[in-house]
Amino acid sequence: MNTELVPIFRGNGVLEYVERQPPQLVADDDVIVRIEACGICGTDLNILAVPPAHKAPPGIVIGHEGVGIVAAVGPAVTSVQPGDRVVIANRLTCGKCDYCRRGLDNQCTNYQTIGTTIDGAFAPTLRTPARALWKIDPTVPRDDAALFEPLSCAVGSVRRAPFQPGDNVAIIGAGPMGLLFALLYRSMGAGKVILLDVAPYRLEFAQEIGMDAALNVTQVDALAEVKRLTGLGADVVVDAVGNQINQAIQLARRGGQVILFGLRPHDNPPVNQYTITRYDLTVHGAFVGLHPFAQTIQLLESRRVQPSILVTHRLPLTELSRGVELMRTQQAMKVLIEM
Ligand SMILES: [Zn+2]
Ligand SMILES: [Zn+2]
Repeated sequence: MNTELVPIFRGNGVLEYVERQPPQLVADDDVIVRIEACGICGTDLNILAVPPAHKAPPGIVIGHEGVGIVAAVGPAVTSVQPGDRVVIANRLTCGKCDYCRRGLDNQCTNYQTIGTTIDGAFAPTLRTPARALWKIDPTVPRDDAALFEPLSCAVGSVRRAPFQPGDNVAIIGAGPMGLLFALLYRSMGAGKVILLDVAPYRLEFAQEIGMDAALNVTQVDALAEVKRLTGLGADVVVDAVGNQINQAIQLARRGGQVILFGLRPHDNPPVNQYTITRYDLTVHGAFVGLHPFAQTIQLLESRRVQPSILVTHRLPLTELSRGVELMRTQQAMKVLIEM
């Protein structure tokens, strides 16, 4: 049998390439997917950081933003068949815990995550239970499909906050996630979409893909500038960074909506509670999004959001570490690994 070369996460930022037998069907509901491409995510950067900023057990294959073609299915699988193009909804929830039973799957207390707790998609072949896979029309370009998982996080999160077409949106953080929110809000009919960041590369990128404003918070008075651009302040503010709650509530107009999306478990900024109360703000926590997958597929198939515009680099699997470094040093927006 042919073997395949796969990077194994060894802990402490180390990836070791080993020859392995491709995974085979084991359980009745297993599917074997021939991976075409897999995006590098901020989570992967965190897993590979030294010391790690996100837990993953040594010995696994990482990668969760995969797109591929079904190669084989177990006898109990009815949702996909060989030849289908599929994308990965990487959180395998248990379906049994109190939160799953309440319909709050994203709060499952027993979940496994493909590419974080179990083997993922930085490999030519993936074995996964069928329930992690969503079929996508093969005419959707591969690189748009590869951004299904991060886009689904934005789709699931924007639903938290009431939004009207024409609303002005300010997004703190112009990395891949912030820009996915921006593309999504633009497709939903936002008035102005304004990005804020500290990194010139990201701000230039936001400008190049047609965002209304990209503000460098180290160089301009972002608060004054958002007020100037919007009149009252933003109707909706997204913190895609994870520690910007005070900036976010300042940018919102009175009565406005704030979505807190970024995750920084070790940052715990003191909150300006007075501003929230005095100006009738609504602040939403949004963790990865609840049940966003069907709509994300439909959105990608409609082509009204084409997230591949964020892909700046395509590298072979042997250059995964270089891709991680390019993203870490902000010389790349989104890197795809091609199998
Ligand atoms: Zn991701
Ligand atoms: Zn559960």
